Amino acid sequence: MTVQFEIEDSSEQAQFRDEFRAWLREVLPTGWMEAVDAGDDDAFARAKDGWNFMSWTPTIGRSGYGAPLWPKELGGLSGEVWMLQITREELRRYRLPLIGLNLLGVGLAGPTIIEHGTDAQRSRWLAKILSCEEIWCQLFSEPGAGSDLAGLGTRAVRDGDEWVVNGQKVWTTIAQFARWGMLVARTDPNVPKHDGLTYFALDMRAPGVEVRPLRQMTGSAEFNEVYMTDVRVPDENRIGAVGDGWRVARTTLMNERATLSGLSLDPVSMFGGQRSDPWQSYLDSLGRDGDSGLGSDPVLRQQITQFFIEAQAKEATAFRANIARQAGQPGPEGSVGKVFNAEWNQRRFSTAINAAGANGIAWHAGDTAAESRVQSFLRARANTIEGGTSEILRSQIAERVLGLPRDVEVDRDVPWSEIPR
Ligand SMILES: Cc1cc2nc3c(=O)[nH]c(=O)nc-3n(C[C@H](O)[C@H](O)[C@H](O)COP(=O)(O)OP(=O)(O)OC[C@H]3O[C@@H](n4cnc5c(N)ncnc54)[C@H](O)[C@@H]3O)c2cc1C
Repeated sequence: MTVQFEIEDSSEQAQFRDEFRAWLREVLPTGWMEAVDAGDDDAFARAKDGWNFMSWTPTIGRSGYGAPLWPKELGGLSGEVWMLQITREELRRYRLPLIGLNLLGVGLAGPTIIEHGTDAQRSRWLAKILSCEEIWCQLFSEPGAGSDLAGLGTRAVRDGDEWVVNGQKVWTTIAQFARWGMLVARTDPNVPKHDGLTYFALDMRAPGVEVRPLRQMTGSAEFNEVYMTDVRVPDENRIGAVGDGWRVARTTLMNERATLSGLSLDPVSMFGGQRSDPWQSYLDSLGRDGDSGLGSDPVLRQQITQFFIEAQAKEATAFRANIARQAGQPGPEGSVGKVFNAEWNQRRFSTAINAAGANGIAWHAGDTAAESRVQSFLRARANTIEGGTSEILRSQIAERVLGLPRDVEVDRDVPWSEIPR
């Protein structure tokens, strides 16, 4: 059984798709696309053998296809949302990563700098984000400020043309590899918490920045603690006006939600390697597990079909969110999509682990499919926390979309320095 969900392209869209495919053919190893089109996994493995993944991000980044919505003069295509959609579909089809290594740079920092940065900042940072020469991380959360981000305590004090930063961030994903950090710091403690914040780009190699990796239950150390002690930040690295950091940070957060709501789009890859026919992939992986009976289990088949349907609804919602964002009218889709995607991801990996039976908890050394399934299952626990917890996002949806009364905020108009903590 082959499942197909393609909507027919207009002639303009078909032309763009052809152009993108032609470009892919130029940059990918010989035989790669033919092998995927033919569903020939052995040929695909041969084409991929020796391919350097590290070279992929700069290649797509410098082509404009890595950020089709960014203005042409800033490295994008000045494109429409359907172009983003088509590039994503083709990348998925040809088993290529959607964004690559600089997810936070391309997805969060770039759009923030485009919207709030100066021309000098745009030319300083954007090209190197796309080419992946400079990886970015997000220095927002602190031990005492996660959901209540506006309550953060890292201080930046002006000293001539520089700011002196002291404080601690936590949960900072890929800080150990980052060259720059999107930093929100308190520049005025004597005004209400949302008003006293300023947004900076922090040079992660500056003296006084210390990054300490944290090991998580998957075994990897994806995020870090970051300590800043008397770090000097030139004023030219301030993004937006002094005291306007909350507004700038909201652009980052909105883009974070949109980024996190549209990823992980292949609902069956967790059952085995990605194949052109997902059902075949799923059945094969059950066969590899030596549990061929499950392939005809009607309940499991129904669950997988449900994941397919939800994946389509998710993608359509992400598409709508992007259109609204591009039109300058961001709607609730980013938050709704983020909540849904997080829970969907957790459900699908739970289903995958259940379907794998004993292989879901123990596997033969070298069974990389089983190992990555368990890794993904464990990693998915973070999905309902990272980028805003599901509880907080549900409150936002209740207030901003459904028009329910606002959550009680006793400290909203109190100077930050007077809030008990
Ligand atoms: C894998 C991962 C990667 C991350 N990467 C980054 C990163 O790169 N940069 C960064 O800055 N941050 C990052 N974060 C941090 C993330 O944004 C925070 O964990 C998140 O905002 C929650 O904050 P907290 O952990 O302080 O929890 P808290 O805010 O202390 O919340 C604890 C619990 O209380 C609930 N809660 C809190 N307030 C309310 C309320 N008003 N109403 C209802 N329930 C409430 C929460 O939903 C949660 O269940 C990452 C987190 C994870 C898990």
